[in-house]
Amino acid sequence: MRVPFFDLKSQYALIQNEVDEAHRAIFSAAQFVGGESVHTFENQFAKKLGVSHCISVGNGTDALFVALKAAGIGPGDEVITPAWSWISSSETISLTGAQPVFADADDFFTIDPIDVERRITPRTKAIVVVHLYGQPANMDALVAMCQKRNLTLIEDCAQAHFSEYKNQMAGTFGQLAAFSFYPTKNLGAYGDGGAVVTNNSSLAEKTRRFANHGGLSKDDHQIEGINSRLDTLQAAYLTVKLNHIDAWTRKRIANAELYTELLKGVGDIVTPEVRRSSKHTFHLYVIQTKKRDALKAYLQGEGVETLVHYPKALPFEPAYHSLSFSEKDFPRAAQFQREVLSLPIYPELTREQIQFVCDRIQQFYGR
Ligand SMILES: *Cc1c(COP(=O)(O)O)cnc(C)c1O
Repeated sequence: MRVPFFDLKSQYALIQNEVDEAHRAIFSAAQFVGGESVHTFENQFAKKLGVSHCISVGNGTDALFVALKAAGIGPGDEVITPAWSWISSSETISLTGAQPVFADADDFFTIDPIDVERRITPRTKAIVVVHLYGQPANMDALVAMCQKRNLTLIEDCAQAHFSEYKNQMAGTFGQLAAFSFYPTKNLGAYGDGGAVVTNNSSLAEKTRRFANHGGLSKDDHQIEGINSRLDTLQAAYLTVKLNHIDAWTRKRIANAELYTELLKGVGDIVTPEVRRSSKHTFHLYVIQTKKRDALKAYLQGEGVETLVHYPKALPFEPAYHSLSFSEKDFPRAAQFQREVLSLPIYPELTREQIQFVCDRIQQFYGR
């Protein structure tokens, strides 16, 4: 048996008729940028999240950049962001001219509110919270902190489509939230895509303007902006997939539960903790073990693909060497980069495949 880390071919086989039909309709109409399909997706996505505005953009990184610009972040500002994340959540802060300030992770791989508090200075303007792997961050503490200190809260939901914290959707806690529709994300296009959502109409207008050369229509340039758009084709594909996302999310959660059950007490494995009263949508299923590299190599030999999210915490990346951090500045992130391993978790995974992966893991520890 071979268990690939992603399997978008199986997913396409399940929805091929709908996707091909959407594709044909766009080619018949021959409108490839903007148009009705983009509005339809924006409206349906906003409605499903329960927010009043969705502004689609070219990718998730642009979504973060555009959201930060709309929030007025720029030179002289500091923005607190997780040490343990994908680089989009910090590089976009630098792109605005502001300074990213890293904070360490908590036990759930998300930003630790206690460490955030320690890193606040008079220059701090915002916090970028990442709901990593599909698990919402500690929003009670973070929302309270932002309110008390008058900080803008921006959520990176690239890995957390329709995740919930105490029955509230991820992406509805902050002033703005950014989503990615990269093909392997829980809701993925057949190419790049992203969106910003907000309940604030003034921020929505600023976001739309900045993403569209400063205007709400052609030849309208109130400010300078960029060109970041969701292709019409991608919007149509995403609308098709939006009808399936709830079933896919349920399958991801069921797969995670099966892994956790089968891996209980196996070797030194730590299975992922789910935060109480939250809905973890398992973009990634991440275990921890001191034998990470050996286990990864063993599984590779047995036909099981795994990945490491991430091999290096952001403060230790060459891109941030000038900040001269050492492992003791971010002890949790430093531990994670040595011990985390992501197992395949997509909805199309079969019970037999999960059983196979867990059998091989057991075999590794029993050698
Ligand atoms: C994927 C991802 C992004 C960026 O999304 P792109 O669409 O690839 O630009 C941002 N943040 C996190 C946490 C991500 O996983």
